[in-house]
Amino acid sequence: LASDWDSPERRIEERRRALGVDALLIHDPVDLRWASGFTGSNGLLLWGAEARHFVTDGRYAAQAATEVRGAQIHVPGYDLFGFLSEGGLAGGLRRVAFASDMLPVAAWERLRSLLPEIEWVGVTAFLSEARALKTDAEVETIRRAQRLTESVFSEVLGLMRPGMTEREVAAELTGRSLRGGADGMAFDPIVAVAERSALPHARPTDRVIAPGDPVLIDFGCTVQGYASDMTRMVSIGPPSDALVRVHGIVSAALAAAESSIVPGASCRDVDLAARRVIEEAGYGDRFPHSLGHGVGLSVHEYPAVSWRNEDPLPEGSVVTLEPGIYLPGAFGVRIEDMVRVLPTGPERLTAVDRDLVIL
Ligand code: ZN
Ligand code: ZN
Repeated sequence: LASDWDSPERRIEERRRALGVDALLIHDPVDLRWASGFTGSNGLLLWGAEARHFVTDGRYAAQAATEVRGAQIHVPGYDLFGFLSEGGLAGGLRRVAFASDMLPVAAWERLRSLLPEIEWVGVTAFLSEARALKTDAEVETIRRAQRLTESVFSEVLGLMRPGMTEREVAAELTGRSLRGGADGMAFDPIVAVAERSALPHARPTDRVIAPGDPVLIDFGCTVQGYASDMTRMVSIGPPSDALVRVHGIVSAALAAAESSIVPGASCRDVDLAARRVIEEAGYGDRFPHSLGHGVGLSVHEYPAVSWRNEDPLPEGSVVTLEPGIYLPGAFGVRIEDMVRVLPTGPERLTAVDRDLVIL
């Protein structure tokens, strides 16, 4: 049983070698945070076989000194790309890879004109597979974010009553997460009452909760940059038979997905395990999104747990499982858990049970 995965440093170096380049230019802020520890918005990490250079601007000089690990720090008095060239950091490099889906075209053109002797190799999914494999410390941080999310959820259940608006519930979720120690929210909370719950990505409005309404709540926070993500269904007073029945189907779909996580399973297999349950219940056309997504320093990251993705579900990754059934004009049901994919099967990171919450 592998209980720990390789360090980010080792995986970045493996990626560099697999791409056959002399260096990686790491510029996306999330990649940069993962690779170096830097939490600012403007920096570059030039990752060579031996030399590792981190470049940022004057606003971040003090912050970089405390956060950045494993690289020599430079704070030039002018722009970062200019310094790659003028500062001689790129001397001797022939091929350098960068994330082509994350760098603006203008920035790439500038790089080519500043350093024309380098072959710039644009790569999509630059570090996403490497980032998918979480160390024990990363999973522990995700777990802390999830524990906070669960305690906020249970506090807010204690406040919810007819007459409150979606917006007021969302404000409680946000305020209590921040007061409880979150850095921020993983995304804008979704609080969707009655027929609005049939919109998979509803935004909170002034819609008032009435007795008998189902409420879909989907939210998460970040702790040290790492996200949590959970969806639960709440009924204000006794639920309708239809809500109970559809909730049961979605819950069975989630359980089927969870038990399909076995060694060698693909992302497609896991999505289809849930989708089959929903199709067999007659709601195949009411589940319009993928089953789930990877979670880490981004709340949506590699892998997509989707029927379109035939990649193996990576061992060591953390993913959500979030089947749903959406009945326009009536209501929608989604239930979302996070699991860590271990060689022995899934480990649930979500601790609260999945039952329909009846207030
Ligand atoms: Zn969610
Ligand atoms: Zn999600």
